[in-house]
Amino acid sequence: MSARSLPVAEEWFRAVRVDDAITVIDEPHVHPFLRANIWHIRGSTGDVVIDCGLGVVPLRPAFPELLGGDPTLLLTHAHLDHMGSAHEFDSRWAHPLEPVAAPLPGTLDARALAATLGMGPVTDPSMPELFIDAVPFESYRPGDYRLRPAAATRALSDGMRIDLGDRALSVLHLPGHTPGSVAFYDEQNAALFSGDVIYDDELLDELEGSSVPDYLSSLARLRELPIDTVHPGHGPSFDGGRLHELIDAYTRGK
Ligand SMILES: [Zn+2]
Repeated sequence: MSARSLPVAEEWFRAVRVDDAITVIDEPHVHPFLRANIWHIRGSTGDVVIDCGLGVVPLRPAFPELLGGDPTLLLTHAHLDHMGSAHEFDSRWAHPLEPVAAPLPGTLDARALAATLGMGPVTDPSMPELFIDAVPFESYRPGDYRLRPAAATRALSDGMRIDLGDRALSVLHLPGHTPGSVAFYDEQNAALFSGDVIYDDELLDELEGSSVPDYLSSLARLRELPIDTVHPGHGPSFDGGRLHELIDAYTRGK
């Protein structure tokens, strides 16, 4: 489908309130393969945003109430669908093994992206030519999309505690999908913000920088933690039972 024939989206982002503290934002006109969750967590002493979407249009101006303050951006990893709007945030925290300052080039063209990420030729018939099915405004040209680098302002490390006042997040370094992939664990609420470490779909472990042995040990580690709710990087949240099913299915397949 050529960009010329794409409709103009009424709204680019969609936000859903999960509970008193948590809101999830995504981009409904982005193909599910690249449609990532943006998690906003309100804390009594500060807010954080976990990942920030594809960066097709500016994120923060779309949510002046939620993102107008000075939230800290926590990046799970440096893939385009998770760090596209990172440059809009003053505080950007990421693991040093993630190339947020010089990420792999971004594109909305499925074949070009597959080549960039080292996925080999696209054979999946459900994969579109273009990762968006609408444009954010009339004159938008998908070919002009670029992923902007955004150097980290602070390094995340395993075990680091991020205090939000009435809740805290612990950083878990869980390599496999990428070398510096992290998840954020809210022990008090038995909740995990997992990025692309785990979600309810096929896990991608053959990308540039992926490692199956690392993935297996990361998931084994995750399986030992008390977790009631997973808020993933893609798709809907799920419970601890489903988490174990997904880990076991992946592990059996290797
Ligand atoms: Zn990813």
